[in-house]
Amino acid sequence: MRIAVASGKGGTGKTTVATNLAHVASLDDRTVAYVDCDVEEPNGHLFLKPEWLVSRPVTRLIPKVDEAKCTHCGLCSQICQYSAIVPLGVTVLVYAEMCHACGGCALVCPAGAITETTRQIGVLDMGWSGNVQFNRGLLNIGEAMSPPLIRQTKSAPPKVDLTIIDAPPGTSCPAIESIRGSDFVLMVTEPTPFGLNDLRIAVDMVRALRLRMGVVINRAGSGDGQTADYCRANRLEILAEIPDDRRIAEAYSRGELICTALPEYQTAFEALLTRILRSESRNPNATSTGGYRR
Ligand code: SF4
Ligand code: SF4
Repeated sequence: MRIAVASGKGGTGKTTVATNLAHVASLDDRTVAYVDCDVEEPNGHLFLKPEWLVSRPVTRLIPKVDEAKCTHCGLCSQICQYSAIVPLGVTVLVYAEMCHACGGCALVCPAGAITETTRQIGVLDMGWSGNVQFNRGLLNIGEAMSPPLIRQTKSAPPKVDLTIIDAPPGTSCPAIESIRGSDFVLMVTEPTPFGLNDLRIAVDMVRALRLRMGVVINRAGSGDGQTADYCRANRLEILAEIPDDRRIAEAYSRGELICTALPEYQTAFEALLTRILRSESRNPNATSTGGYRR
């Protein structure tokens, strides 16, 4: 089972929920992987403190032009939807950061002047945090295209009973790539007007992807009741409310898991996990073998 922990905006406590869920899940007799797909600024390692075992470069393909063969016909630039390749005078400029590696320019080049080469966009780090397999992608600074790295980070862990995906905040391509294919999306939000606005957008995204979801309200009690009202009106199950407890913020600032710094919260995260698993067991698409019909 894959649980994606997502949020419409940054700073809602998504990583706090994801890392503590991975921790409590690993206390039972199951294999667990935590996958940090927030590749622009992964921070799950600050709390799970993995021992790194492997780090490998992640690359993607970009076009390479042999100017001796180029006839400057301009077809490559016409087919490119991202303005990533532009014939200019006697040369052809390739803007690697904008290229989506579709291969279209190489296909249409009548002179056979375009081949593909690799470009490193980041690294994939793998290790262990206790019984949790820990995987994270780390995007190179200045690199704009994170989905290829997210795809490779998601596919890195071997098969386990439960995978917790820490998705990037927001609703753009990186968030969609991270939650795509999940069995359940846990939306973490906060009870403020900003939180509610971004929750609405994120809920629309998850519904468009036809994924099941539930909500965690973090810092409950610090804002208003509109978020809970919205969830009820839209038949979104509120699976947990984490109180606005200063001790949680202090544990976070020290890089500690809530469950270990404040053991009374361990029961709450175990209950959250149980509710997700119970909700998923009611999924009409779940098969008796543990697989899913999509
Ligand atoms: S399609 Fe090929 S030949 Fe035409 S401009 Fe691009 S690289 Fe040159
Ligand atoms: S591979 Fe695709 S996105 Fe990249 S430059 Fe060529 S046509 Fe554009």
